Amino acid sequence: MISTREEICVATNELDQPVNIIKYTIDSQKQGKFVYIQGGVHGGEVTLPIIKNLYNYLQNNLKCGKVVFVPFANPLSWQQKSYTYTVGKFNLKNGRDFNRYYNTNVDVNSKIANKILSLCEGADLTLDLHTAHNALPYTIFSSLKLLPFVKDLNLKFNDFCGMPKKYEHCFDYELTLKDIPSITIECGPHDEVKNENISEIENGILNVLANLGMINSFDIKPQKQLFFTDATSIKVSHGGIVNYCKELGETFKKGEKLFEIISANLLKETFSYFAESEGILLRKSKTHIFCEHDEVLQVVYDKDAKDSL
Ligand SMILES: [Zn+2]
Repeated sequence: MISTREEICVATNELDQPVNIIKYTIDSQKQGKFVYIQGGVHGGEVTLPIIKNLYNYLQNNLKCGKVVFVPFANPLSWQQKSYTYTVGKFNLKNGRDFNRYYNTNVDVNSKIANKILSLCEGADLTLDLHTAHNALPYTIFSSLKLLPFVKDLNLKFNDFCGMPKKYEHCFDYELTLKDIPSITIECGPHDEVKNENISEIENGILNVLANLGMINSFDIKPQKQLFFTDATSIKVSHGGIVNYCKELGETFKKGEKLFEIISANLLKETFSYFAESEGILLRKSKTHIFCEHDEVLQVVYDKDAKDSL
């Protein structure tokens, strides 16, 4: 077994200092699959504990093949701070999503993203770890060929998104074009460390590696999976302060109150939003402060969820 840490200089910053991607490889030196795992494309999306646990486990347990980790796929996105908050989803210079730079030639982030793509050449599977607002863990995948991996990941919620134009230049979109298997995992809420999410995703990934023959079989309790194509986004009809009435993962019936909007106008009544049909709450916004048309919730309605694809 060989473990290496490599600093790959991609560019220089304003101070002529290197902008480095740090790549970690665990190579069993025995023939087998190559799996690439990254996190941190978006600054503030905390997936490091999952990556660190996997790294520590595999150092002693990888039987064959190799695993490459890039814990922070875009170091620049992590440097965007506003007060104590890391605001690393969109580039503050031009508004571009840091996950829309793959196969582009826009700015220094294109150099970072294109170097990342080159690290994935020949991979049997690539995993891109993200977080989403205040959400339960879920996979996003663009091809039905990936279904066996998605099943092995064993997460309850799974978004089969296809290849829509809005995901052009995303990591998994560009790799899918190259026929390199790629799954995005939304690992839970932004800027949080939740042990139950960490172990659920860690175990799912280890189960994938076990089924690829890279580690010994892994004891995992299969859970019922739901598949959908884009959850339903619920936006506020007018601005105000939102009071949430449901917790993440809570199911609701048609007509149940999901949230209320307290208007800034003291003369206006509080508005209540009721569920259109039965479903489950997948994702909430991180804020209570809403301008008209901002997204409050994402829900999966029972009518849109399938047990299999
Ligand atoms: Zn992200």
